[in-house]
Amino acid sequence: MSTWRTNIREVTPYTPGEQPNKENMIKLNTNENPYPPSPMVEAGGKEMEDWRLYPDPSVTKLVHALAQYHGLLDEQVFVGVGSDDVLAMSFLTFFNSDKPILFPDITYSFYDVWAELYKIPYKRVPLTEQFRLVKEDYQQENGGIVFPNPNAPTGILEPVSFVEDIVRGNPDSVVIVDEAYIDFGGETCLNLIHRYENLLVVRTYSKSRSLAGLRVGYCMGNKELIEALNNVKQSYNSYTMNQAAIALGTASLKDEDYFREHVAKIISTREWVGEELRKLHFSFAPSSANFLFITHERVKAKDIFEMLKEQDIYVRYFDKPRIDNYLRVTIGTDEQMQQFIDALKRYLNVK
Ligand code: PMP
Repeated sequence: MSTWRTNIREVTPYTPGEQPNKENMIKLNTNENPYPPSPMVEAGGKEMEDWRLYPDPSVTKLVHALAQYHGLLDEQVFVGVGSDDVLAMSFLTFFNSDKPILFPDITYSFYDVWAELYKIPYKRVPLTEQFRLVKEDYQQENGGIVFPNPNAPTGILEPVSFVEDIVRGNPDSVVIVDEAYIDFGGETCLNLIHRYENLLVVRTYSKSRSLAGLRVGYCMGNKELIEALNNVKQSYNSYTMNQAAIALGTASLKDEDYFREHVAKIISTREWVGEELRKLHFSFAPSSANFLFITHERVKAKDIFEMLKEQDIYVRYFDKPRIDNYLRVTIGTDEQMQQFIDALKRYLNVK
């Protein structure tokens, strides 16, 4: 009997939300943006270079554009294939201690997958009953810290001072703040990178920039952190960023008006949907993201999830401890959200 099987790295993969492809579906399950990206993005395709050639392994153009956009030096920016790639690379680069890394018990469910993949010891730090982080809990011994702000799937934002206390209290660990949803009303902790050498702030093009399909993410931190990330990336795959991602990702940064207008639209839809949901006896914490994390006082989340799915309205249900009576609902267009609300009203027998 051959034994090669015993050498397989066994992992339980992350389960992304469904990507059904139905004509009239309403897709509110993976926090994509319902609006198209700026027309300038497509125009950016013209600047693509020669497809015969490998792309620039240092991604100079996009890194420079992002650095300019955020008022940073190029040496303070690292880009990757979506923020998942940036996060995976960061786990590999910074979380190499025997001490456990810390992240919330309810959070982005890829963190424990990467920890398992790279054999990084980890500890899930419980959120309060109200799903808030407790900063004192992050003062225990650790080999690194990672959390999203606003948190996912709750949408709850912690203030910059809260993040600062965690970063300041852990000078011997790299603290990764995943700001995937920060553009939807949160205050960024980006400025703290100038004062704390152990802070890495991660962003994505997938939500606020309407470019989940392009796969662009990035992070910002001091030069030493960025250099370490580049060294690991260059030891793994020199060409993670393809030419299209570089050209179109750079173009996206040129249309600030479009960006702001569409983010504001999603925020106003979110507030309106929130009011409608409250009338239907749903409750949820105030969200600073492009989704609401809702629970109903009477009807089970799973039943609502299945009812909606039958009508081709997709939301996200997590069959996990503490959150198995909640639904995460991405904010779509006003028309989509009206149909979502109408379906709930019919189901709950509300006129
Ligand atoms: N962080 C959080 C908190 C997320 O919810 C997501 C989306 N699944 C990501 C990172 C990854 O997004 P992307 O790889 O599309 O940038």
